[in-house]
Amino acid sequence: MKYIDEFQDPALARRLLDDIAGTVTRPWSVMEVCGGQTHSIIRHGIDQLLPGNIELIHGPGCPVCVTPLEVIDKALEIASRPGVVFCSFGDMLRVPGSGRDLFRVKSDGGDVRVVYSPLDALRIAQRTPDRQVVFFGVGFETTAPAIAMAAHQAKRLEVRNFSLLVSHVRVPPAIEAIMRSPDCRVQAFLAAGHVCSVMGTLEYPALADTHKVPIVVTGFEPLDILEGIRRAVRQLERGEHRVENAYPRAVRPQGNPVALSVLREVFTTTDRAWRGIGTIPGSGWRLTDAYRDYDAEHRFEVADVATAEPAVCRSGEVLQGLVKPHECAAFGTACTPRTPLGATMVSSEGACAAYYLYRRLATPRTEETASVD
Ligand code: SF4
Repeated sequence: MKYIDEFQDPALARRLLDDIAGTVTRPWSVMEVCGGQTHSIIRHGIDQLLPGNIELIHGPGCPVCVTPLEVIDKALEIASRPGVVFCSFGDMLRVPGSGRDLFRVKSDGGDVRVVYSPLDALRIAQRTPDRQVVFFGVGFETTAPAIAMAAHQAKRLEVRNFSLLVSHVRVPPAIEAIMRSPDCRVQAFLAAGHVCSVMGTLEYPALADTHKVPIVVTGFEPLDILEGIRRAVRQLERGEHRVENAYPRAVRPQGNPVALSVLREVFTTTDRAWRGIGTIPGSGWRLTDAYRDYDAEHRFEVADVATAEPAVCRSGEVLQGLVKPHECAAFGTACTPRTPLGATMVSSEGACAAYYLYRRLATPRTEETASVD
């Protein structure tokens, strides 16, 4: 299969691993930002194949995981109201709020629907003008353009029974927050390639410069990730801190101008709370004042819902790379994908779910298991 098999070639992987092993001379910690990269790393055992002195830290790049509990609770409240059709991507339905999830709302009679695009939700609104149709807009810069386009179209077509519950987050402010944390152990970043395919790379040089940290834009297949690690380690060993694009087949420095145009029209940056981490200044998007009428929080007056995370859950530390999932006492016992206590277990991109799915039930790394010979 073109463009997949080529990036999973074992012989090329071997060469990249040998190159990394021949370059590294001391311990380094590299954070992969994206949950999709985390799953690829764990699924293919990349962390176990690397030399023992390279640690991969799993970052906060899973959109479901970082959506705060209070936003889930707002979604549950809106979805429970009579006359509402609540539309969402499928991965949000199993995310528990304070007491239940959207599946439970649906089984209790709520009209909760899985859609594959926010434009599908807009079409539902056009077909059912007597109902209020709400789309749950969650995610990073990758999903935001489609959601912005739905808002743009709703306004252009004057569809007044459509609104968006928006909880979008942005990667660069999260990198900034991670680097400013007193507990930060990250020495280099693998930036998320799909985010950069939309946004470009122009926000990253200032971060690399300020924090003296290499940032390598990286894809998702095993060879992409190994190449990202190879470049990051090479920079670290040389004492460099530049932005490199190791995903040029998808990423241009200026990003996608069409997507950026609609994003700028519909969204403006705002402070955003990240689950388990707290509020990061400028890390989110909200609808601009011109689109306020399409803001579900405003329309349904749910802006003041406040909730608390389960005390046992350490997903905040997992999301910051401070602990590995299996270091949580609830991992694999009280907390499993069937009984998730935190979003990092419920989401298909969450680090806890990846560790459970690929049976990383205890600390797997030793010098012996890390050997590539
Ligand atoms: S294993 Fe479960 S309880 Fe522990 S940090 Fe992960 S999601 Fe939270």
